[in-house]
Amino acid sequence: MSIPREAYQTLQSIVGPEWVSDDPAICEADRYCSLSSPSDEQRRPGCSIEPASTEEVQAIVKVANRYKIPYVCTSTFYSAGTYARKDDSILIDLKRMNEIEIDEKNLYAIVGPGVAFSALQADLLKRGLITFVPGCGGNSSVLANTVNMGDAPIGWRYGLGYQRLLGVEWVLPDGEMLKMGSLSMSDDYFWGEGPGPDLRGLLRGCAGHQSRLGIVTKIGVKIFPFVSEELEPMGWAFHSFMKLPPNRFKWYNIRFYSREDAINAMFEIGRSEIGLVVMTVPPIFRSVARTRGVGCGGFWEAWKENGPKIKPNQEDLRVLLYGIGSDKRLEYEEKVLLDIVKDFGGSPREAPCRDETNFMAADAICANVVGGRFSSEVSYESINQAVRYSRVVNEITEKYKPRILEDYGTTNWVCPYELGYIAKMECLRMSSVENRDALDKWHDDVHKFCATGGGSTIFPEDEIFGPVWGNYPEKEAKIRALFDPNHVSAPQ
Ligand SMILES: Cc1cc2nc3c(=O)[nH]c(=O)nc-3n(C[C@H](O)[C@H](O)[C@H](O)COP(=O)(O)OP(=O)(O)OC[C@H]3O[C@@H](n4cnc5c(N)ncnc54)[C@H](O)[C@@H]3O)c2cc1C
Repeated sequence: MSIPREAYQTLQSIVGPEWVSDDPAICEADRYCSLSSPSDEQRRPGCSIEPASTEEVQAIVKVANRYKIPYVCTSTFYSAGTYARKDDSILIDLKRMNEIEIDEKNLYAIVGPGVAFSALQADLLKRGLITFVPGCGGNSSVLANTVNMGDAPIGWRYGLGYQRLLGVEWVLPDGEMLKMGSLSMSDDYFWGEGPGPDLRGLLRGCAGHQSRLGIVTKIGVKIFPFVSEELEPMGWAFHSFMKLPPNRFKWYNIRFYSREDAINAMFEIGRSEIGLVVMTVPPIFRSVARTRGVGCGGFWEAWKENGPKIKPNQEDLRVLLYGIGSDKRLEYEEKVLLDIVKDFGGSPREAPCRDETNFMAADAICANVVGGRFSSEVSYESINQAVRYSRVVNEITEKYKPRILEDYGTTNWVCPYELGYIAKMECLRMSSVENRDALDKWHDDVHKFCATGGGSTIFPEDEIFGPVWGNYPEKEAKIRALFDPNHVSAPQ
């Protein structure tokens, strides 16, 4: 064991000996998060610890500082980048901190890091309220996701995570406590902005600081009114879904005969302020959804059948209309949508009134049924930038064969938020398992294009973006040095 014995004993006394372990089998299990491919970067932690309270987190962080031991935290260990990058780190697993408090009247919830979206959503749906279920899945942490990203297709109406984060309780890298928003004044999470300057920008971000600035132990998060009708669960395992009340919801799949028409229709839908979900549907999504649970053999059969049906340059939009507040609203939304579709020459088709993704589960993990290696490049900017970005990524993809999937012009996903004000562009790519190199080179070229062409992308490569984005890595390092003088909070 390389964690000093004295430090280890202190950790045992903080959480109780049953909640900390340096057993090599347990530490090995905590080396890899759920979705990452093993690499040399992932180090086996020196011990794994599960605190139950903010006070315990603070005490652990202070021990780490005293002995200069690096630490990294995880809430649900779902994200591909969550792991110790230094030998003999303390892995702080926050799943026991799973308190939920719901303030129905003032429409916010208070959650600890161990609360998964599915748990919060299940409680909210019983009360005619909802939260987000991000694209990565109902199993991810409300807190970690809202702080780090917070995007889901219903962001068309409700925005990204920054619009939902309220009061924050934050253990800084040296163990000091910072309370933000209304929490700094009283024991109340209802407000995030002030008093004084709003510091949430230090914390938040699409792929924010990834625990390199300490540990958030509690947040207030906005919740929203929803329909009072029950969403009836149906089906089983991978094939489960929820029936939506047809007086309040209607799904449309709409085929457009050029990408331009689809994009212009999207702008118009936003301008008309209708819909709860509006996004393009790459054909791969359909095949993946149909083959959940049967693995990649089933995927390839479905792909042969369904993939090629859409022609290059055609684009499918999927729209969920929502009678927010009344049945009449749904009739109005449908009328407006069908007028827009007509103007842009689309063919609308009503889809079954049920949901497999947006209210409970979400299914990004299904991307793995295709088999082989999977990677994706993501940018959050305007819809126009999304279209431009995807065009260039397609060109770059051409250079890196073998490509398992043919593109049919439309495997890139445009998912706009805030009624079209901002859009996520996600370019999903697969390669054979042996061919890791192809995806790495593709990734580098996409980042070079973005850096020189004025685009943004999540997880920007510092060496590529630093010189063109005002040497931000140096500035970030200065901020980190200020908050984390011992360089122990998730050092890279
Ligand atoms: C395949 C895939 C698809 C995804 N799709 C989406 C998507 O559609 N929408 C979306 O919003 N996100 C998406 N994500 C991103 C990811 O799921 C989110 O970032 C989410 O925050 C992960 O939360 P977690 O608790 O499960 O993560 P963890 O694995 O526990 O943590 C994620 C990161 O946050 C840090 N962290 C965890 N807890 C805390 C804490 N309490 N305080 C400070 N830092 C902390 C960790 O150290 C780590 O760096 C996707 C990820 C994957 C792998």
